[in-house]
Amino acid sequence: MQPWNDPSFSPASPRVVSSPQGAWIVVDGKKVLNFCSNNYLGLAGDKRISEAAKKAIDKYGVGPGAVRALSGNSELHVELENRFAKFKNAEAALVVQGGYIANLVAIQTLMTKEDYVISDELNHASIIDGIRLAGIKNKFIYKHNDMADLEAKLKEIGAVDKLVMIVTDGVFSMDGDIAPLPQIVELAKKYNAITVVDDAHGEGVLGNGRGIVEHFKLHGQVDVEVGTCSKAFGVMGGVIVGKKEMIDYLRTKARQFLFSTGITIPDAAALIEVINIMEESDERVKKLWENGKYLKEEFKKAGFDTGVSETPITPVMIGDETKSIEFSKALFEEGVFATPIKFPMVMKGKARIRVMPSAAHTKEDLDIGIAAFVKIGKKLGVI
Ligand SMILES: *Cc1c(COP(=O)(O)O)cnc(C)c1O
Repeated sequence: MQPWNDPSFSPASPRVVSSPQGAWIVVDGKKVLNFCSNNYLGLAGDKRISEAAKKAIDKYGVGPGAVRALSGNSELHVELENRFAKFKNAEAALVVQGGYIANLVAIQTLMTKEDYVISDELNHASIIDGIRLAGIKNKFIYKHNDMADLEAKLKEIGAVDKLVMIVTDGVFSMDGDIAPLPQIVELAKKYNAITVVDDAHGEGVLGNGRGIVEHFKLHGQVDVEVGTCSKAFGVMGGVIVGKKEMIDYLRTKARQFLFSTGITIPDAAALIEVINIMEESDERVKKLWENGKYLKEEFKKAGFDTGVSETPITPVMIGDETKSIEFSKALFEEGVFATPIKFPMVMKGKARIRVMPSAAHTKEDLDIGIAAFVKIGKKLGVI
C-alpha cells in the first residue's frame, strides 16, 4: 500500500496566514494576537528590511542562478558572510539555506563514520538527522544538560585517535533553558573533543543579540557555532561561524553547499539589513526580554506553571495532550494564536502551550493574551 493511502494517516493542514508577520496577524481569515512565532525581534515583516530586499531585486533579480560553488556566489552572499563574522566576533562565517541544513553541513562534513559523537538527549531533530546522515557508528547520548553524564561518556570513549564531537542546542526551544556551555567547553578541552552548539533560539536573543558565545564570553573557544536566520533574524537561511580554516573546509567539502543553490538575492540583502539594524541598537533585544519577564511574572501570579525557562520562551504547562489541544482551540476563539506543543515534540504527559513573546508586542497586547489564558485556564481547570 502507498503510505499516503494508509487509513491511519491523516494529513496535516496548517493554518493559513494572510497578513505580514507581527504582534497581530490574520490567520484563517481572523485577526489574532500572535503568541507563537519565532519572530523574536519583530523583524519579519519590517518595512526597512523589505525595502533592502526590493532594492537588491531591482539591481540583481531574485534567483542566484546556480550553486554558489559554480556561478551563484553573489557579492551579497560574500558581504553577508563578512558581516556575520564581524557581528559575531568570529573569524569567518558560512551562510547556507537554513538552520536545519547548517546542522547537516556541520556534522556530516566534519565527521566520518568512525568518529565519535556525544549529543544531548533533547537536541533538535536537525542535529539527530545530521548524525544519521554522517552514518556515525559511535553515538552517545547524554542526559539533558547533565555534565556528570557528559563526562562519563567522554571517559567511556577515552583516548582515541578519532574526532570526538560534543553537540548541543544552545537554547532548548521547548523549555527555554540554556545549555551550560562554559562547562561543556571545559570538558571538551579536558578530553580533547570539539564542540558544536546550535544556537537557533539564542541568535538575536542572547548576548545582546549576538548569541550564546557572546552571552558566556566564549569567543574562539567553541569550534562550530550554528545559527538560523529564520527566527530572530526574521528572514531565512542558516549560518555557521568559527575559525577561518574550519569554515574554508566546510565551504570546500559540504555537499549541501556544493550540490544545492544558496539563499536568494533578496534573502541575502534582507539579512545584511538585519545586521545593520542589530548593530545600530539593542533596543529590540531589551524589549523582547522585558516582555518575556512580564509574561512569566503575570502567568505565575495567575497560578500557571511556566517551567524552567531562562529565556523569553514561556511554556505554559498543561500536561494532558488532549487538554492542550482544547486549550489552544479555545484561545483561538478568544482571538489568541498559540499552538499546543505535545508528543513527540515533548515527552508524553508534558504537553504545553508555548508562548513566544516578541519585541513587537506592546504591554497592552500581552495583557490581552494573559487575560485570555486566565479565562480559559479557569474554565479548563488548569488554574
Ligand atoms: C528552528 C531550528 C532549526 C532549524 O532552523 P531553520 O532555519 O528553520 O531551518 C535548527 N535547530 C534548532 C535548535 C531550531 O530551533
